[in-house]
Amino acid sequence: MSIASAIAAARKIVVKIGSATLAKPDGTINIAFMQDFAGQCAALNKAGKQIALVSSGAQLAGISTLDRWARKTDMNYRQALCAIGQVELMNEWSGAFRRCGLHTGQLLFTKEDFNDSRRALNMRNTLFTLVDEGVIPIINENDSVACDEIRIGDNDNLSALTAILWNADTLILFSDIDGIYTDNPKTNPEAKLIEIVDDIAGLKKRVTIGSANNFGTGGIATKIEAAEKVCAYGIPMILANGGCAEALGALALGQLRGTLFLASH
Ligand code: GLU
Repeated sequence: MSIASAIAAARKIVVKIGSATLAKPDGTINIAFMQDFAGQCAALNKAGKQIALVSSGAQLAGISTLDRWARKTDMNYRQALCAIGQVELMNEWSGAFRRCGLHTGQLLFTKEDFNDSRRALNMRNTLFTLVDEGVIPIINENDSVACDEIRIGDNDNLSALTAILWNADTLILFSDIDGIYTDNPKTNPEAKLIEIVDDIAGLKKRVTIGSANNFGTGGIATKIEAAEKVCAYGIPMILANGGCAEALGALALGQLRGTLFLASH
């Protein structure tokens, strides 16, 4: 199986965009990217694919809006910043999709919601209803209410839980890295992109899993955790660089390389 064939075979696709992909080099939110990305989702949608988008960037959009809070680290300020930023983020997504003739719906989840069977059932029903009615669900963690005990903490794991909740056919994580390498490509020019992973436990022994990268919350470790979750459920996962031109369309056409984690069954 290749990345292109995994996408071709999929009807329900969860796509996750990380903060690093949504940020411009100056740290503000990249609206042009969002408009372009919405266009790519709309094209796939027209081709018969159902898309649910997991978007990070609440905090980033909050800082873009209220720059003076950028250095506030207290929890109440972080959470307030996400409350501000989530609105801005959704405004941009909703505008971007509306230009393509699509409506969006916002879903904000916490770990507790996934662990509570009644809430999870309601989340699932809402997700199915939105998608069945042609609306694009835009999902994020409910950062303003999530404290340590109920936090998922990163959107890689959140998108894996969402893919499982929705019985998605594939999960695509867009990050600022091209995929998993045999070593750190920034320091080792010999590092090679691993294009197919069919043994995650073996991979974990082979690659150096550093701590989080500079931008997102997760880094490689949470991407591998996400792959472990979905692959165990029979859902393949694709990790690719969202910053490449027309990333989603290029992946579907087999023109963009990345790492494909094969489902375990
Ligand atoms: N929920 C966070 C936000 O929107 C992002 C978490 C992550 O980067 O994985 O700011």
